[in-house]
Amino acid sequence: MRTFQTLADKYDTPLYLYDFDYMRDQYNKLKEAFRAKKSLICYAVKANSNLSVIKHFGDLGAGCDCVSIGEINRALRAGVKNYKIIFSGVGKRDEEIFEALQKDILLINLESEAELQRVELQAQKLQKQARISIRVNPNIDPKTHPYISTGLHENKFGVDLDTAKRMYIKAKNSEFLDPVGIHFHIGSQLTQLEPIKEASEVVTDLVRSLKVIDINIKFFDIGGGLGIQYDDETLIEPYDYAQAIFSTLHGLDVTIMCEPGRYLTANGGYFLTKVLYEKINGDKRFVIVDGAMNDLIRPSLYNAYHKIELVNQKEEQDESLCDVVGPVCESGDFFAKNIKLPHTQHDDLIVIKSAGAYCSTMSSNYNTRGRVAEVAFDSNGDRLIRRRETFEDMIALEKDYLKD
Ligand SMILES: *Cc1c(COP(=O)(O)O)cnc(C)c1O
Repeated sequence: MRTFQTLADKYDTPLYLYDFDYMRDQYNKLKEAFRAKKSLICYAVKANSNLSVIKHFGDLGAGCDCVSIGEINRALRAGVKNYKIIFSGVGKRDEEIFEALQKDILLINLESEAELQRVELQAQKLQKQARISIRVNPNIDPKTHPYISTGLHENKFGVDLDTAKRMYIKAKNSEFLDPVGIHFHIGSQLTQLEPIKEASEVVTDLVRSLKVIDINIKFFDIGGGLGIQYDDETLIEPYDYAQAIFSTLHGLDVTIMCEPGRYLTANGGYFLTKVLYEKINGDKRFVIVDGAMNDLIRPSLYNAYHKIELVNQKEEQDESLCDVVGPVCESGDFFAKNIKLPHTQHDDLIVIKSAGAYCSTMSSNYNTRGRVAEVAFDSNGDRLIRRRETFEDMIALEKDYLKD
């Protein structure tokens, strides 16, 4: 593709590229699927927390699902309204809870009984009522990668049904808590509808039993986790997803919330990296590129598959097996193992696909490599949305403490 080459020439490599048209279309598809009911799509900021990406979804009407006060402040800075922001996560500091309450976000998602007490205490300090929801762990196997499975009791997330009910009653009886929501999220990269539907049945049952004791749930949060195409997965269609959830409501009047991350951004992202050189060790061929695990860690961390292509590949070129690796001093520093690529030359451009989610957000300065630039493009053109990190940026927090 000529555009990749042009953008690499213009902004240098390694580089993240985000297709804002694609991201908008994904958002609209999902929103459209839920149109028969009240819904709020809360973009899971952890997938890609670039301010311009958040703003892009915010402008379309999305809220944000945040897992730290830092993410909440990103969402607010990007112009997302406080009443569309929710705060999730198994471990929240008192200070984070306090600040979230001060900023009057839509609700805080509780993941334990102990957390309920902490939130109550902070709300009391502020003399206000905290709107809360409770994350239920429905103990259902989502049939995804164990690292991104969250809906089983063996995972650290949420509380079981009995605990949840006890917590709702406690919250209802508290002057400082207002139980308005319920939440489940059974895992990520979900490609099967049945476990989601099953979980939703279990959770709507709880909503009905709460109604009997005068606890009225307004926000029904079905989590995120919609799978995307990394390779040859068969996917859940947004329409089927919405219909499956609707079918479990049996007349309940709730606002449906969902928290997609990867679905909205992953396949709108590309990581561009240049070939430094090739080398052969015995009968093993390595293509060494200028990007590394510190820029994009998913292959090293989860053995995740990302499609890799040589930009400007000619059809007649013979391919052979190779590992695509970066310059970082770790054997785990690879983007792919045993994939087929033609012989490459210095400066040839390589694109790593599905790089819009959990890629730039997981990057680090390991090996004192600056974080790479990020560029947004759409049918109108391209623009920098994060500049490349410099050496001075990297030492900024240390240099004043250097002793003679
Ligand atoms: C990570 C996460 C999400 C987003 O997951 P995706 O797979 O990116 O859709 C949503 N909700 C919660 C609670 C999460 O932890």
